[in-house]
Amino acid sequence: MPIPYIIFIYALVFIYGVVLGSFLNVCIYRIPSGESIVTVPSHCMKCGYKLKWYDLVPLFSYLFLRGRCRQCKTKISPQYFIVELLNGVLWVLTFLFCGIAWQSIIYCLFISVLVVISVIDWRTFEIPLGLNIAILVLGVAATALDLVLGLGRLPLHIIGFFAISVPLLLIYLVTKGRGIGGGDIKLMAAAGLLVGWKLAIVGFILGCLFAVVIHIARMKISKQDHVLAFGPYLSAGLLFAVWFGDRIVSWYLSFFSF
Ligand SMILES: [Zn+2]
Repeated sequence: MPIPYIIFIYALVFIYGVVLGSFLNVCIYRIPSGESIVTVPSHCMKCGYKLKWYDLVPLFSYLFLRGRCRQCKTKISPQYFIVELLNGVLWVLTFLFCGIAWQSIIYCLFISVLVVISVIDWRTFEIPLGLNIAILVLGVAATALDLVLGLGRLPLHIIGFFAISVPLLLIYLVTKGRGIGGGDIKLMAAAGLLVGWKLAIVGFILGCLFAVVIHIARMKISKQDHVLAFGPYLSAGLLFAVWFGDRIVSWYLSFFSF
């Protein structure tokens, strides 16, 4: 592919990522309180000022308004800017690591839902059902895409649905719901369908490692007992599995082939 064409694609991916990032902010703020994510126009949380189109240009509006409401000058959370930028960067990296392919579009949307799940779970210790359903829909799409492309990886996806979710469900039943959250189980089922069982296992192991290391570090630093929100760690594990999982799997298997 010619270089200018590749640069054009990455620029486009970044712009789409940033634009969807501003929708992710809407989801992050409205889903936990049960507000509609589509019908109510965006408004200032403080004075109710309805945002005009020029207040809604991702990244730029925040910079131009210096992070304050146009009307009442209340500080707007930098989270808006951070999530928009983060989503754009994550999308570009996904195309970089997974290639310019149809599958990367599904992976990008998947990672965006993971961003929303992470922030909401971090704050509320709940993963909203609708977000897991969104991942399930993407999982069905990924499975269908493999079939359309003639890759025939149906078992990879189907087994992926059960590979981690069934063991987690057993832990849930044995510990009567204290060992793991129901939302985490549904997340690993839907994500497993999407990425297939190999990457689901890689993602889960990475997620557990991140959780142990970061959670212990947090407790050491703050000298407090924290409740563990597993969602963000699972999301980070799944992110790295999508990006590097195939390489991790073949590296691991290389130890067993002589
Ligand atoms: Zn305001």
